[in-house]
Amino acid sequence: MTVIIGLEIHCQLTTRTKLFCGCSTDYRNDPPNTHTCPICLGLPGTLPCLNRKAVEYALRVAKALNCTVLEEAEFARKNYFYPDLPKGFQITMYDRPLAVDGHLEIEADNGTEKRIRITRVHMEEDPGRLVHVGSGDRPRYSLVDYNRSGIPLIEIVTDPDLRSPKEARRFINTLRTTLEYLGVFDGDREGGLRVDANISMERGSRVEVKNISSYKGVEKALTFEITRQRNVIRRGLSVERETRHFLEARGVTTSARSKEEEHDYRYFPEPDLRPLRVREWCDAIVLPELPAARRVRFADSFGVSPSHARTLCGDLKLADFFEEVVVCGDPILAATWVADTLLGEVYYRDMEIARVPAGHFVELLRLLKKKEITDKGGVEVLRAILDQSARGEVPETPATIVARLNLGKAAGDAFGPVIREVVESCPAAVQDFRNGKPEALNYLVGQAMKRTRGRADPKELARMIREAIGGSGVTG
Ligand code: ZN
Ligand code: MN
Repeated sequence: MTVIIGLEIHCQLTTRTKLFCGCSTDYRNDPPNTHTCPICLGLPGTLPCLNRKAVEYALRVAKALNCTVLEEAEFARKNYFYPDLPKGFQITMYDRPLAVDGHLEIEADNGTEKRIRITRVHMEEDPGRLVHVGSGDRPRYSLVDYNRSGIPLIEIVTDPDLRSPKEARRFINTLRTTLEYLGVFDGDREGGLRVDANISMERGSRVEVKNISSYKGVEKALTFEITRQRNVIRRGLSVERETRHFLEARGVTTSARSKEEEHDYRYFPEPDLRPLRVREWCDAIVLPELPAARRVRFADSFGVSPSHARTLCGDLKLADFFEEVVVCGDPILAATWVADTLLGEVYYRDMEIARVPAGHFVELLRLLKKKEITDKGGVEVLRAILDQSARGEVPETPATIVARLNLGKAAGDAFGPVIREVVESCPAAVQDFRNGKPEALNYLVGQAMKRTRGRADPKELARMIREAIGGSGVTG
């Protein structure tokens, strides 16, 4: 059964002020209802005043997503009554959105590039945030915080081109990266991105899953929903067309009892704002280098492998970090250490790349390049730097750490006694190797690595062990 998925993604734009008033958008560390004014509280008699920067940011997004900007876009009122929206309507765009008919290339499940069509891109205001107090499904009361009310949002709607939860997640990651490159979005901001997903089995009814608010949540919610729909079909029933909510904590979707139809919203053009004629403005915008172009540049000018280029450019800060440390003189070594080793270590520590001292990392790469330490020793040096950084200390230089931990790679001769010891203490493995089992050599090298505490180069050890035990017809 083919799975058909389309997404509607809301992203908060990182302007300094809200969409229609001068309130600051930087509210996350402040108490509720401290970033408000009569406009974003929707008091009678106030008028919205459009934030020019928000329009510029939205145009950057439309352009990067290869959309056509409408000759005349128009704000519209979407009427509904809910406490998160004191005006009784949301200012959004309806039948004349900012831009239509775009696309974004992502990596498909089979590793090739796949084009996901973008139906439309429009601007709207974020509603306030409700906080339900009490347990689970039966809150005792709800509180409302209008700090979020009026934050500029861009809503991006895709065609139903996605075929699996993994693809959906990859689309969202690619979109996130693109928006970060554009300088209009901060993916680390809590609640900065919310997703609604439309999902159906081929020829089945469409189910809308609302309000998925994390990157991982998208894949989880879709995976759950596919299993649920498959089971309904397996039982000989048909999937009902409905709206469901994703309950992140339980990883399930549940049926939402009522759903407004389009016509319930009584859309009409917003009388307090003029139509937007911004096509020429969009034409004049010059976009920064986007992830795809940067990947090509990393491959062409540094010789970085396609998979490393993808990893590095998949995160703006990581790509910037790589460009800072590539001065070590060996781009491929730098790419490997940033994309494979460093990324794993910072992920494990839940640390920001920005906190890794680039100068220290360059020095570490130079030690590795000159083969003054082994890869294993390099990892130890890196861990020491990261741990010290994470504790807020000024990290020691790699050279200091190498000296302190005695990680300097000793000359091969120094390992003679170790090799003899290993050969003597593991006669079975030696015999296996002589009998033509090359994997026995790995075991012996492992033993020698243990005894040299990672200071020796494993290839060098393998060569020395082979020399010491000789007599085998197998060469590794
Ligand atoms: Zn305000
Ligand atoms: Mn919306």
